[in-house]
Amino acid sequence: MNYKSFLIKYAEIGVKGKNRYLFEDALVKQINMRLKRIDGGFHVWKESGRIYAEASERFDYDEAMDTLSRIFGVAGICPMVQIEDKGYEDLKEQVVRYIDEAYEDKNFTFKVVAKRGNKQYPVISDQINRDLGEVILNAFPETRVDVHNPDVLLHVEIRHKINLFSQIIPGPGGMPIGTAGKAMVLLSGGIDSPVAAWMIAKRGVIIEAVYFHAPPYTSERAKRKVEDLAKIVARYAGPVKLHIVNFTDIQLKIYDECPHDELTIIMRRYMMRIAEEIAKERDCLALVTGESIGQVASQTMQSMAVTNEVCTLPVMRPLVAFDKQDIVDISLKIGTYETSVLPYEDCCTIFVAKHPVTKPSLKHIQNSEAKLDSQMEELVKKAVETREVVRCI
Ligand code: ATP
Ligand code: MG
Repeated sequence: MNYKSFLIKYAEIGVKGKNRYLFEDALVKQINMRLKRIDGGFHVWKESGRIYAEASERFDYDEAMDTLSRIFGVAGICPMVQIEDKGYEDLKEQVVRYIDEAYEDKNFTFKVVAKRGNKQYPVISDQINRDLGEVILNAFPETRVDVHNPDVLLHVEIRHKINLFSQIIPGPGGMPIGTAGKAMVLLSGGIDSPVAAWMIAKRGVIIEAVYFHAPPYTSERAKRKVEDLAKIVARYAGPVKLHIVNFTDIQLKIYDECPHDELTIIMRRYMMRIAEEIAKERDCLALVTGESIGQVASQTMQSMAVTNEVCTLPVMRPLVAFDKQDIVDISLKIGTYETSVLPYEDCCTIFVAKHPVTKPSLKHIQNSEAKLDSQMEELVKKAVETREVVRCI
């Protein structure tokens, strides 16, 4: 079967009341933007609570399906045949042709579900179900009707045109990108933060990211790995602006002047400060990290509280209560895992103490930071100003 059209189902945005059209429009825009990159071109439109995409020329079905299945807000994708209403007899013929082309092996049970959006249509739904069922049974004697648990559920939607479809491929769910503001993700090369980015984007949030590297202690390869991760996230979230901050001088200064068991926490506080400064400049409404309670020393409740203290923006930690395995499962599903586990060094792991404090006291940390002279302000300013920005797509 050469499907040319898709009916796109959306779940959650269907219940947004008066703002519903905003969400629908955002989803149509996302679908348009993403399908535009596929050869052939698509026409995307909405029509009374439905979104349709139709290929204008020859196109790569698998590529279109793959693209649609990564657009947040899409609950299901139905490859469909749309026909003109040329009378009841023609409908019967078209349904037989549909079944013939869609299912090579006719040894299946089926049920017809007709829906009459167009109440002027001369035959009522129940009758359509019975008639089309009979037509299919006559045309393909191997088929059988099963109204409770059919292998094939054939939907016949009668509107001003008629939609025939019998497959629903699940979409990712969530909300369309662009319906919930923008957030700045602290993106490392690890497993967790790309998953955190994906989860926040899934709620409709536009994502930008900041990565701290420490050349020459961290390599170009480590940096490229983070760019690659941002690109994988961008396949779902749309283009991700990645801010690459040189953190070396700040890290060396902390290393030279602070107690070594406090290095990690002080370093993380500076990361947050810098991320927040860039976030505000970029109109982001929140910071996002991949932290999860207890995963490592810097992710205890106490550590997170002390890190938060330097921020005025909300810090979102979508993985806060996830076990590592659950995070790994998501990263495998979204395709970031393989890249995340490439063994390149991270700036956090290079300047790390043997026994970091796990329950830092805010007072102690503030005291240690107070000893970092005014040079620190300069270094932070310089790090923000000299950052490199890469658009990952
Ligand atoms: P991840 O798998 O995301 O790297 P992790 O388990 O390695 O997390 P940490 O190294 O403690 O944990 O980092 C916690 C969070 O801090 C990360 O999820 C990320 O949001 C942020 N982070 C850590 N290192 C960096 C970095 N070099 N650049 C940007 N953000 C970072
Ligand atoms: Mg890490």
